[in-house]
Amino acid sequence: MIIAENLIEDLQIELKENVLPLTIEGRKFLDETHFLTLFQESGAQIIFFSDAISKGEKEAINMLNEISRRKYNKVMIFTPSSKEELEKAIKNVKFIENAHYTINEANRKKREIFSSRLSHLVGEEDLGVLDLNENRYIHYGSIKIDENKCTLCMACVGVCNAEALKAFENEGELKFDASVCTDCGYCEVACPEKCIEVIYDKLELNPSYFGQKLMAKDEPFYCIMCGKPFAPKKSIEKIASTLLPIFTDELKKKSIYCCPECKSKLLFGEYLKKKEQL
Ligand code: SF4
Ligand code: SF4
Repeated sequence: MIIAENLIEDLQIELKENVLPLTIEGRKFLDETHFLTLFQESGAQIIFFSDAISKGEKEAINMLNEISRRKYNKVMIFTPSSKEELEKAIKNVKFIENAHYTINEANRKKREIFSSRLSHLVGEEDLGVLDLNENRYIHYGSIKIDENKCTLCMACVGVCNAEALKAFENEGELKFDASVCTDCGYCEVACPEKCIEVIYDKLELNPSYFGQKLMAKDEPFYCIMCGKPFAPKKSIEKIASTLLPIFTDELKKKSIYCCPECKSKLLFGEYLKKKEQL
């Protein structure tokens, strides 16, 4: 049971066995990760008693209660608004079978913690898709990538602050974890090929939503001078198709197919050669 600090002083209520009261000091807001953590660590429904539930807290509570109804057929969080309702909630609050779950949260971001906890709750079931369109503060979604158009330039990875998109350069792979995506849309704007589509405000409650998925893959391109793999084949083909019609110099044309070290050697060597001839 969570109680706002300002309400606890005059509150004369009887607690039943196993109900542990926690107070929130000052105006601290709880988010979906806090609520889910309290639920899973206790393995029981939560009572949140406060005279000022914020809009963000309401969104988190509505979302988690809907998930909990789909999974356990019960709400996760009670929100009584009077002493009488609080007493009733204390009477009704219960442990939920198999809800207890604990993880080591050290050095993990809030989204990662939520994702890991929600993934456990969902398990192997398909609990459908949650439409979060009405939400202002809490956003979960996904993206689609047209693999045929993707050149694996990795511009999308560079702008993804949530680290939902990850580059595996040695393997020439682009992977995506929808459960930590904040639906910000930056990748869609940054993609030069316009091959990303963001799916806004849809939280999928099935096992495939969690964890990294392969979105695009390509063979490595090998430097024509040293033979080292240095970029995905498609991205070199894209660069070549853009620059070859512009370049007139044969050396520059050749440099497109060289790794950064060989490119410098090639162009600098030519510069020195020309200088010696002067
Ligand atoms: S082409 Fe678009 S989707 Fe593919 S790696 Fe580049 S930015 Fe990402
Ligand atoms: S929408 Fe935002 S968080 Fe999601 S993959 Fe794109 S950049 Fe990353």
